[in-house]
Amino acid sequence: MTRFIVLLGPPGAGKGTQAEAISARLHLPHISSGDIFREHLKNQTELGKLAAGFINKGELVPDDVTIAMIRERLSRPDCHAGALLDGFPRTPTQAEALTTFLSEINGQVKHVPYICVPEDVLIERLAGRWTCRESGHVFHQKYNPPKQQGICDFDGSILYQREDDKAETVKRRIHVYMEQTQPLIAYYRDHGVLREVDGKKTIEQVTKDLLLALQGNGKS
Ligand SMILES: [Zn+2]
Repeated sequence: MTRFIVLLGPPGAGKGTQAEAISARLHLPHISSGDIFREHLKNQTELGKLAAGFINKGELVPDDVTIAMIRERLSRPDCHAGALLDGFPRTPTQAEALTTFLSEINGQVKHVPYICVPEDVLIERLAGRWTCRESGHVFHQKYNPPKQQGICDFDGSILYQREDDKAETVKRRIHVYMEQTQPLIAYYRDHGVLREVDGKKTIEQVTKDLLLALQGNGKS
């Protein structure tokens, strides 16, 4: 059975960073749904054109288009030994489609690590960013504060909060993620493959815990 891993985590949990670290350690390709979309749009493939039609209308790309893209990507030779999936599946329907497809290539979703971080910590991480108007230098009020509050260290220009970095926007993003992902988490929990990992720790420690959970020694 070829091993596939689905990595889950809310915005601010460091999922992208961890996906890179884990895929490097396990020598598995990091398959990000965002990258796949961008590739299809850029190359103007049939699927890409189909997806663009929905995106341009401000609509969600339907499951069958997304699933077809993922199928095509996972069929490439670099995935023959498995892969780490990031951003897909998003719903139990997509998860079912993935299971069906993987069974055709003698693969299975072996582990679903979920990086858990309390909402207040996510908000603190994501909403603390301040950007300089002049050159886009980024500071964080807690993790990388400017020497003088509200002023860029590099060029002395004024710091402001981008719309995406405001607490209200961040809160909404987190709630949308939680709402959309709860059914998927429940789905994988029911299938006995969900592995919750404490995402409040340092990046290095979380990587270690994730690798441990993927060995099957983590708490389930
Ligand atoms: Zn600056």
